[in-house]
Amino acid sequence: MFGMAVFLTEGLTAHLLYTQYVVSGRPVYAALSGAYLYAAISVVVQLLAFPGVFTPSGLLGAGAQSAVWMWVFWHGGFPGLVVASLVLRRFFPRGSQRIAYRRLIAAGLIACAAIVAAAACDIALEHVTWLPDLIAGGSYQKLAENPVAIAVVCLNVGALLGLVAVTRLRTMLQLWLAVALLAGSVDVLLTLHAGSRYSVGWYAARIAAVCASSAVLGMLLWEISHLYRSLHRAHESLMETSVRDGLTKTFNRQYFNAQYPELLDMAVNAGRPLSVLMVDIDYFKQFNDNFGHRAGDECLQAVALTLQGGLRRQWDFVARFGGEEFVVVLPNCNTSAAADVAESLRSAVEALNIDAPHSPKGRVTVSIGTATSGPRGPETSGELLEEADRGLYRAKRAGRNCVEAYAV
Ligand code: GH3
Ligand code: MG
Ligand code: MG
Repeated sequence: MFGMAVFLTEGLTAHLLYTQYVVSGRPVYAALSGAYLYAAISVVVQLLAFPGVFTPSGLLGAGAQSAVWMWVFWHGGFPGLVVASLVLRRFFPRGSQRIAYRRLIAAGLIACAAIVAAAACDIALEHVTWLPDLIAGGSYQKLAENPVAIAVVCLNVGALLGLVAVTRLRTMLQLWLAVALLAGSVDVLLTLHAGSRYSVGWYAARIAAVCASSAVLGMLLWEISHLYRSLHRAHESLMETSVRDGLTKTFNRQYFNAQYPELLDMAVNAGRPLSVLMVDIDYFKQFNDNFGHRAGDECLQAVALTLQGGLRRQWDFVARFGGEEFVVVLPNCNTSAAADVAESLRSAVEALNIDAPHSPKGRVTVSIGTATSGPRGPETSGELLEEADRGLYRAKRAGRNCVEAYAV
C-alpha cells in the first residue's frame, strides 16, 4: 500500500509538472518532472523486488540486497536530479521555445531521467553482486555503517540547502519542493536510525516518505483548483461582456436576436401574451449637432439606464437595437400593461430633464411603439417586431414624445 501510494503520487506529480512545462515553457518543470518520474520508477521496482511482498525473495529475479539498493538509488537519485534541475535552469532560456520544441526538450529531459532509473534498476537487480551488502537478516546495521548512507544523507540535506540558497523559496513550487526534500531527509535519517525493517522507526520513515512524495502534488492540485476558479470567473465575465452593448451596457443586438424568438415561442406555447416596445430618441441627430457626439453618447447612456431602471419583472429586458433605438421585451404582458410600461418609460425619460433646445419640449424625449402577441396578434418574431416598428412611426407622426400601439 505504501509503495503504491508513493508510486501514484510521484507519477501524478511527474505528469502535472510535464503539463505545466508544456503550458509555461519553464524548463525547470520538465527537469523536475523527470526527477519525479525517476522516483516513481524506483519505488515501483523496489516494491516488486522487496522480499515478502509478492514472493518470499522478491520479483524480477531480485537478490536479497536488491530492494535496499533500490532504496539507496531512489533516495540518492531523486535529490541528485533536483540539484541537476536547478543547474539546468540556467542553461535553458525561459519560455522562449515553440510548443513543438518544448515537447522535444521535455521528452529529452524525461528520457534522461528514465534512462538513469533503468540503469539504477539494472544494477540493483542484475549486478547487485558488484555492490557491498547493506542488509543482513532485516537489520540496517551494515547500511548505517556504509559510506553510501552518508552520501544519501548529504545528497538530501545538500539538495535542500542548495534549493533554499539558489531560489530563496520565492515560488510555491520551490517552497513545496523544499518541504518534499525536508521530509525526504527525515525519511532517510529515520530509516538509518530505525535499525531494521518493520520497526517503529521504519514505519515512521514510511510516513515521512509519503509526505515527501505528496508535498508538491498537493501544491499542484491546489494551484489547479485555484486556476479552475479563476477560469470560471473569467469565463463568466467574458460571457457577460459578450452580451452587453459597449456604450450603454444594455443587452446587445446579438443577445436580443437570440433571446427574443425563444421567449416569444415559449409565450405562444404557453398561451400567454408577450409585448415588444420599440423606443427611439426624438430629434437625436440635432442633439448631436448641437452638443457633439460625446454629449450624445452620455445622453444615450442616461436614457438606457432609465429604460433599464423602469423594468420591474425578472424576464423583462432592454437591448440596444441600433443607433439611438432600443427594444424592450416584456414576456407575459398584455396590450394594456405594455401601454402602461411604455408610458412610464416615456415619462421617466422626459423627467431626466436633459436639455434639448431643438426639441419642442426643450428636453430629451422618446417615442415608443408597442405590439403584443396573442390569440389575434402575430405569432412570428419578425411580424411582431414590424408591428412595434409601425407603432413607433405612428408615434413619430403623432408629434413624438408619445406612445402608440400598432393598429391595423
Ligand atoms: P427622429 O425624431 O425622427 O427619431 O429623429 P432623429 O434625429 O432622432 O433620427 P435620425 O435617424 O435622423 O438620427 C439618429 C441619430 O442618432 C443619427 C446619429 O448621429 C445618432 N446616433 C446613432 N448612434 C449613435 C451613437 O452611438 N452615439 C451618438 N452620439 N449618436 C448616435
Ligand atoms: Mg432612429
Ligand atoms: Mg430618433
